Amino acid sequence: MKTKTKYIFVTGGVISGVGKGIMAASIGAILKAKGLKVSMQKCDPYFNVDAGLLNPREHGECYVTQDGAETDLDLGHYERFLDEEMTSNSIWTSGKLYKRLIDDERAGKFGGHTVQLVPHVTGLIQQTFLDNAKHFGSDVHIVEIGGTIGDLEGSHFVEAIREFPTKVGRENCLYVHVCYVPWLSTSQEFKTKPAQNSLRDLREFGIIPDMVVARMDVDRRVVVPQVATKLATFCGVSEDSVVLMPDAKSVYEVPLNAVKGGVLAPLERFIDHGDPDMHVWEELVDHIESDPKETVKIGLVAKYIDNTDTYLSVTEALKAAAWKVGVKLEIDWISAEEATEADFSDVDGIVVPGGFGVRGVEGKIAAAKYCLEHNKPYLGLCLGLQTAVIAAARRGGIKKANSEEFDAPADANVVYIMEGQKGKESTGGTMRLGNYPAKLVKGSKMAEIYGTTDVVERHRHRYEVNQKFLKEIEKGGLVVSGASPDGKLVEFVEAPACDYFVATQGHPEYRSRPYRAHPLFEGLIRASRQR
Ligand code: GLN
Repeated sequence: MKTKTKYIFVTGGVISGVGKGIMAASIGAILKAKGLKVSMQKCDPYFNVDAGLLNPREHGECYVTQDGAETDLDLGHYERFLDEEMTSNSIWTSGKLYKRLIDDERAGKFGGHTVQLVPHVTGLIQQTFLDNAKHFGSDVHIVEIGGTIGDLEGSHFVEAIREFPTKVGRENCLYVHVCYVPWLSTSQEFKTKPAQNSLRDLREFGIIPDMVVARMDVDRRVVVPQVATKLATFCGVSEDSVVLMPDAKSVYEVPLNAVKGGVLAPLERFIDHGDPDMHVWEELVDHIESDPKETVKIGLVAKYIDNTDTYLSVTEALKAAAWKVGVKLEIDWISAEEATEADFSDVDGIVVPGGFGVRGVEGKIAAAKYCLEHNKPYLGLCLGLQTAVIAAARRGGIKKANSEEFDAPADANVVYIMEGQKGKESTGGTMRLGNYPAKLVKGSKMAEIYGTTDVVERHRHRYEVNQKFLKEIEKGGLVVSGASPDGKLVEFVEAPACDYFVATQGHPEYRSRPYRAHPLFEGLIRASRQR
């Protein structure tokens, strides 16, 4: 019989951005390595209903789940660490929560009762925990609370997790508080006072954590016993429930560092399930730390080059591929607005990632044209497929070829909005989102790369290739190598004359894992290395 689900709640203190999400995901990875079924969710205080309309420069990448939710990049971390596919219910923002509640209130679902923060908002939050655990059949469900403790806008989530043990039993709940312990260089010491204060704030809500994770920016050897003792004394936890986490060179070291830092003792008191088998992480860290002689330089032709989080899954997918192939990866950020031929010739291979809006698009089309004409490895992702198709169509004689997104004339709209989609394109609602299947052409390069002709990739786009222009596109050097099963939508293209020129309407980067490179990225790195 299945044991009762256990819940882990991860809060943060002092400052944000110290890796609470990575720590939460690492705890998940460790529990999974013990053979437990683990799921995760994020509770984010902001009022946007989802991340679809958020500016990626400000907020980082919009991560798309298999069921088509436009979410925060944290869910990408969860998937990469847990190797589980999240769903639209894996993230609950305040906006989504209140929208649901207000919709229900307007629909008369509260039977005339007053709708209140407690128990209605907190109750709905708790229901999301129970629903997720049930959906995934979890032994352990981990909930990360966004922001830091004491943030006014996150208090409904904190109250919800405080109340939750009344529903499932305190013994089935573990509270983890991740806080920052700064180093004061003038007096050469760590200062635990801010962490103590954040733990006091947590106590004010009625939560005494079972585990305190102290993030510190100096190697643990220089540090620490005093820090652990002090935090334990002031926070009311046992000393072996304080986990000290120094900065890691790569986020993928965090699961191993957490084990070294002492995470197992408090975890094992909570759930006893044998030793974790960490070999996947050990092998990965070996790859990361190995120092290959060969370097492969990939040009990422992008609109935002000042916030690399905007393309986080793409860069993680490139890294995974480089680790697999055994080369050092150098990413050359090429500004799409200023790109020149010299930028393209300087790199071994090129990625044109997804994007929206006209800014920088001509630079991306130029990159595709350059790669077609110079047999340079090219991987086009979503918009990167569309720019490749535009470049080919122009070469094939349609001088004004463009996408309707960028005001293509009616006789040259090689990328367009299909009939059924027209007129409803104001918000995210009209996009093709989440998993879509495709049939690859037998004998194509694409089928060879994937090793199969039936593939599924996640999507997030509104425009499609206009098959009316296939002849010209082909004349320009590109053929369709995969389409939707009904043939209506172009999903993959490739250039038969080039060694590696491939593009997909999907976003394969979302399915790459650090320890399991995606074939399209691996292929790019291999082809780029050969040059
Ligand atoms: N802007 C393009 C479209 O909506 C591509 C989107 C993307 O690259 N994710 O079709």
